[in-house]
Amino acid sequence: MREFDLIARIRERATARGDVLLGIGDDCALLEVPVGLQLAITSDTLNAGVHFPPETRPFDIGWKSLAVNLSDLAAMGAQPAWCTLALALPEASAEFVDGFLDGFLELAAQHGVALIGGDTSAGPLSVNVTAHGFIEPGQALRRDGARAGDEVWVSGTLGDAAGALSQWRSAERVDPTLRLRLDRPVPRVALGRALRGVATSCIDISDGLLADLGHVCRASDLGARVDALPTSAALQAAFDPEQRRALQMTGGDDYELCFTAPAACCGAVLAAAEAGAVPVTRIGVIMRGKDVQAIRADGDSWKPPHAGFEHFA
Ligand code: ADP
Ligand code: MG
Repeated sequence: MREFDLIARIRERATARGDVLLGIGDDCALLEVPVGLQLAITSDTLNAGVHFPPETRPFDIGWKSLAVNLSDLAAMGAQPAWCTLALALPEASAEFVDGFLDGFLELAAQHGVALIGGDTSAGPLSVNVTAHGFIEPGQALRRDGARAGDEVWVSGTLGDAAGALSQWRSAERVDPTLRLRLDRPVPRVALGRALRGVATSCIDISDGLLADLGHVCRASDLGARVDALPTSAALQAAFDPEQRRALQMTGGDDYELCFTAPAACCGAVLAAAEAGAVPVTRIGVIMRGKDVQAIRADGDSWKPPHAGFEHFA
């Protein structure tokens, strides 16, 4: 196979959308942006060995490369619409591309997202996706909107993906439930949409709660206190409480939403969780000051062994 055979293979399977006037095949895609909406754009790269274990299945690499981008749109409250795909492949393998597309396009179909273009090159395995969504003017869930006294919430459970990675790194048996959370994150798109007009700020957790809630605190010029962490049964069974806390606070790869809302909005938050079909947990509160303070069950404050994932750290 050669570059253009690969592109033809991708083009054959790319699904249509009414607002894609010209999709894969020309120098640019041409798109109809709905009148009265703003465009939200985000881009994320997955590199083999950095963002996923090298033996990860092509299906899961495809799924995750789109999921992490849809998670960013979800965190803004945007409705996903289109995406591009820049693929660097060590060899032009039809088998890899087919498996990759199975995962990528399954998630794209779930969200009505059209693949509108991209780039294909030879190199160490790397996947860059750019996703585009729509947001009503003034409705985006930004990082800088938290207010003192707001409650802090997260969706789902934390630490599962990091738990799988930790088991994989130490060559232990990897728990299949945890592994699925690492390989197939579920972007909380419906929750993000439902939080418009309810949440004062929102971020998706990719680098660990401590780091990502820290971004909200810095952007909002405030601090936060965290005194609860939603934990899955699988994580509970596999790690002791200290290990668990480190994975949940600094592990990353959760792709859950962390958001703030006034205490009086509790009912609206729970209604949004219902609409988003994902449980939410109140984990703490926004306060004057700076940084994120985590409180252990015994009331002492918890010191992180490290701060969360950061490239080049
Ligand atoms: P150009 O050289 O003009 O950038 P390419 O030959 O790279 O064009 O790509 C031809 C067409 O195929 C373009 O429409 C491009 O967007 C699309 N394309 C290339 N690679 C991919 C890919 N991995 N996924 C989706 N579309 C792709
Ligand atoms: Mg090109």
